[in-house]
Amino acid sequence: MEWIRSEQHQLHNPALEIWAGTPLEATETPDRAETIAARLASDARFVELEATSHGLETVLRVHDPAMVAWFETCYEECAPWVETREIFPDTMLHPGLLMGGKRGPEPMDAPLGRLGYWCFDTMTPIVPGTYQAALGAVDTALSAYDLVARRGGAAYALCRPPGHHAARSMIGGFCYLNNAAIVAAAMRHDGAERVAILDVDYHHGNGTQAIFYEDADVHYVSTHADPMRAFPYFAGYANETGLGKGEGANLNLPLPKGATDELFLGAVRTGIEAITQRGAEQLVISLGVDTYELDPLSDLCVSRSAFHEVGKLIGELGLPTVVVQEGGYDTEDLGINVANVLLGIEGENPLTADTVRDASSKIARHV
Ligand SMILES: [Zn+2]
Repeated sequence: MEWIRSEQHQLHNPALEIWAGTPLEATETPDRAETIAARLASDARFVELEATSHGLETVLRVHDPAMVAWFETCYEECAPWVETREIFPDTMLHPGLLMGGKRGPEPMDAPLGRLGYWCFDTMTPIVPGTYQAALGAVDTALSAYDLVARRGGAAYALCRPPGHHAARSMIGGFCYLNNAAIVAAAMRHDGAERVAILDVDYHHGNGTQAIFYEDADVHYVSTHADPMRAFPYFAGYANETGLGKGEGANLNLPLPKGATDELFLGAVRTGIEAITQRGAEQLVISLGVDTYELDPLSDLCVSRSAFHEVGKLIGELGLPTVVVQEGGYDTEDLGINVANVLLGIEGENPLTADTVRDASSKIARHV
């Protein structure tokens, strides 16, 4: 399989994030992408290509132009007000601050107020290169789409930072620009009548759901940890099925704590059946492998072998498919788990790990 990378991701290199008020070592770091890249580069079945620049046109089909304009300069604007290299909001726009269901004006004279206007959590640091890195991730996703649009089949975009928590007018959850949604919008723009996004990350992709919630032509299907106990807490419930014309085009399949391969793969199968029934012409995969039992953010019991199965199920759909990287934080097995999804899609044999690990090697975090 051909796969795309961009060196720009290295520009987003936060040292810390704030969790429950405490500065902790950052979770979403450059070594994540580098370990995946090293694994793919070591196997002749994968062909590496560089991302090319695509400008902002497709980004602005998905995101609020005012947010993108703010994002470009927010670091320089906020830097004089904070003591750390990473910037975080102190006050976020809670729904209780909406008047008549609408936001008030963006507080243009308050840099930290503007940050809280667009960002919903304290786990999404902005450093000097974050904007350029996020654009690099979009270019990576759109370069993979270019390949698939030209020759069909599947391609993998090694996107970093990830995207599925970013909505039209909101960043958060380590995400700034929604790479998967931007690819889906490009597919629709280029003439695909129906597009599906299958999100298999541990976390619900609240941003992707929100972007297409009233859209009948982009089918969002997600399996994830039940938001009753897991980030993003406020979206991802089974009764969220779409709105207006989009009613029926959103499917959430939340998983209980400790869900095994059988339960996880059963949910993926249910999602794929729904995608088949709705008749998608093209497919985007939001590929998070933070469902993995040894992932520091996971409370599921999904084994290494499940990832190749996920790939096989996706491959059996036979659709033009762009695979976009989302989460996955166990850097030791991240590369092999991603590679095995991709090999499953291609109908190739999986890689076997050269180390044996058990639950005692897991360093749990955030769960
Ligand atoms: Zn995740």
